[in-house]
Amino acid sequence: MTRIFIVILFFIAPGLQAQNPQSSHWCGTQDGKVAWLQEYQANPKAFSRSADTLYLPVTIHLVGTASGAGYFGLPDLLDAFCTLNRDFETVNIQFYLEGGISYIPNNTYYNHNFDTGSEMMTAYNVPNTINCYISNSPGENLCGYSAYNLGVALAKSCIQPDDHTWSHELGHFLSLPHPFYGWEGYDHDYGKPAPEQINGNLVERVDGVNCDIAGDGFCDTPPDYLNYRWNCNTLGESIVLQTDPLGVKLKSDGSLIMSYSSDVCSYRFSDEQIAAMQANALTDKAEFLYDQTVRYPVYSGPVVPVFPGEGDTITTFNEIPFVWEPMPEATHYIVEYSINPGFNSAVFQFSTVGNSWVSSKLVKNKTYYWRLRPYNAQHTCEASSDIHSFTTGDQLSTGVEDLIDGLSAVHILPNPVHSGAPLSIRISSERSLELNAILMTSGGNEVALQQWQLNTGLSNLQIDVPALPSGLYVLKLRTAQGQMVRKVLITQ
Ligand SMILES: [Zn+2]
Repeated sequence: MTRIFIVILFFIAPGLQAQNPQSSHWCGTQDGKVAWLQEYQANPKAFSRSADTLYLPVTIHLVGTASGAGYFGLPDLLDAFCTLNRDFETVNIQFYLEGGISYIPNNTYYNHNFDTGSEMMTAYNVPNTINCYISNSPGENLCGYSAYNLGVALAKSCIQPDDHTWSHELGHFLSLPHPFYGWEGYDHDYGKPAPEQINGNLVERVDGVNCDIAGDGFCDTPPDYLNYRWNCNTLGESIVLQTDPLGVKLKSDGSLIMSYSSDVCSYRFSDEQIAAMQANALTDKAEFLYDQTVRYPVYSGPVVPVFPGEGDTITTFNEIPFVWEPMPEATHYIVEYSINPGFNSAVFQFSTVGNSWVSSKLVKNKTYYWRLRPYNAQHTCEASSDIHSFTTGDQLSTGVEDLIDGLSAVHILPNPVHSGAPLSIRISSERSLELNAILMTSGGNEVALQQWQLNTGLSNLQIDVPALPSGLYVLKLRTAQGQMVRKVLITQ
């Protein structure tokens, strides 16, 4: 809502904003024209371009309060990343999510400034990736900033699905200045002609004679002097008329993502901006290009629940495994569940690798609704799935409380286990004894049986699990002294 208000305000009274530069600096990038770009623009033909799509790794840092609140939502993150990659399709650059999401609970960084932001980036950066920090505020009145070869900071309120802030800041990170380069923070009366120079930078003229040395140095981005957030007319141009140093009138091009036009106006990079970003990725970011694997789009389709089954009432409520059939090309899923079928409130969200996840946060005798959002490192645009439901019981899961006298340190690994793969049992025994292991379906049908003679001390046992359908199975360990039960998830 705040953004809509601001846009309207600029529309009505641009002059007011021009006189109040403090509230107009929505991008806080202070790099100026980076040395790499100066070298590039001196001789662009000396730099190569790529016919293939370049894949650049991005490390996501979500910054919350010290108590762990305020993190940008995971589905919102996937939406924002989707917009980012769509904006860069014409650039022939695509970004992918590298590593797991980093969570930083820190009040100072949650609302940071340039100095504390740089301290944060120095502390948390993952080398050779583009480190993006999403927090409540990266500085007063700022939507974000890029610090060249350090990282990018973004306000969570400015990376909604229709926003281009993330693309704008990554444009900076790949060397691009604003098309109004030189005008940042300059207080100008737009009713008067522009001066020849501002702070030692040549002002770009409409006749194009100085386009390669004035403004951003790109000749296919026309002159633009607007250093505050502005709205465009139906032609995508600025409403404010500006005057170049020779007295020629001009309107700014609102389609450029690197301008300060509002998000409804901007959608593109110019050809020369694209060439510069590609050259920057191939030279200054060459070490970032270590993984050029092409991943295919995710197709979600309807969820096929394995456990709990659709509409099931289960007997237990703690440590409930969610298992579903894998979806094509998905390597990760966001699991969302709620007692609210509309997912309007009290929604729990978790990101998981693979097609299962265990919750220890459910309460007894409640109906829960759950859905999935499948994704992989490069493709995050797929929407949330259909919704499934089940009802919890009031019993505690068995398996954690029961113990057999003389046996301790029982670990089942890996869990979940892939169908057909071996399952290990690590167990410590106080004496020599005979141990039986029986693997059963949740309905009680025996699917594997094995027997060992244990010696005193630690043993590493192995059960060969046959090829089985995905689902929840029960492993029963039995000795003359008693038995214990463990749940095992089998996935494909
Ligand atoms: Zn900027």
